[in-house]
Amino acid sequence: MTARILDGSSVAARLRAEIAEQVAALTTLQRRAPGLAVVLVGDNPASQVYVRNKGVATRKAGMVSVEHRLPDDVQETELLALIARLNADDAVDGVLVQLPLPPQVRSEKVLAAIDPDKDVDGFHALNVGRLWGGEAGLVPCTPRGCMKLIVEAGRDIGGMDAVVIGRSGIVGKPMTQLLLAANCTVTIAHSRTRDLPEVCRRADILVAAVGVPNLVTAGFIRPGATVIDVGINRVAKADGGSRLVGDVAFEEAVEVAGAITPVPGGVGPMTIACLLENTLTAYRRRVES
Ligand code: NAD
Repeated sequence: MTARILDGSSVAARLRAEIAEQVAALTTLQRRAPGLAVVLVGDNPASQVYVRNKGVATRKAGMVSVEHRLPDDVQETELLALIARLNADDAVDGVLVQLPLPPQVRSEKVLAAIDPDKDVDGFHALNVGRLWGGEAGLVPCTPRGCMKLIVEAGRDIGGMDAVVIGRSGIVGKPMTQLLLAANCTVTIAHSRTRDLPEVCRRADILVAAVGVPNLVTAGFIRPGATVIDVGINRVAKADGGSRLVGDVAFEEAVEVAGAITPVPGGVGPMTIACLLENTLTAYRRRVES
């Protein structure tokens, strides 16, 4: 059996087109487009690419994108002052601080300073609590995108066994909450889990969010399972270049799984589309409250 490929690029393009349509309609009514402010500290090349891509996607959706670039040696107080200004700015619906931050700045302090109603990354403790409590809040973009791809696989997932490998606050933990809310029986596996392949083989839905290239081999996968690969790992090629791979050994996994996401072109594009969705949600809540 060869798995169905869950094409994140085309699902994300569809979602972005729907969002752009809604933005066009709302902008006519409200006379103001949704606004996203992205804060980038330093010159980390990967962060620069992420921020640029977010800006392009935001503008394509008809929203206003404003980038704030601060030097690598910025003081925490200066960054907090910028966030306070963005919180108070009526034209800004979403505030996103690109991680990682330099060591002199405490990330938790910065994330806690963002107005929870503008917290489009969903990392503020209030939004984390809302997710765990089953209340409507802003949900982290990557797990939200994973859920959309799981739905795309077209199976009724209520009652299914789901295993999430990875327990970070950005992906693993919120992913488990979303699966639980969708009535799955959820297991969180991590670096200390005993017999990881055996735990993973119980899964009807397997989500890998680890950061270890090709960790999940065919022997981890129950035949027919839906496999979502969140990992983004750059590995060297024989010719001296490099390429991106996920946490799943795609070539062998595709022969066992029922549905699977590729890397690149799987979860990655969904993350940005869900950021736009969160920005639109934050905007609606602000203009309608
Ligand atoms: P993290 O380092 O914060 O967490 C990794 C988790 O994996 C930890 O909880 C750890 O316990 C677990 N782990 C580590 N080694 C393990 C092993 N050998 N076996 C089992 N579990 C193990 O990472 P993160 O921020 O959650 O990101 C995970 C991956 O997802 C990375 O490759 C990252 O680049 C990628 N990512 C992708 C997107 C996207 O948009 N596609 C977004 C965020 C993160």
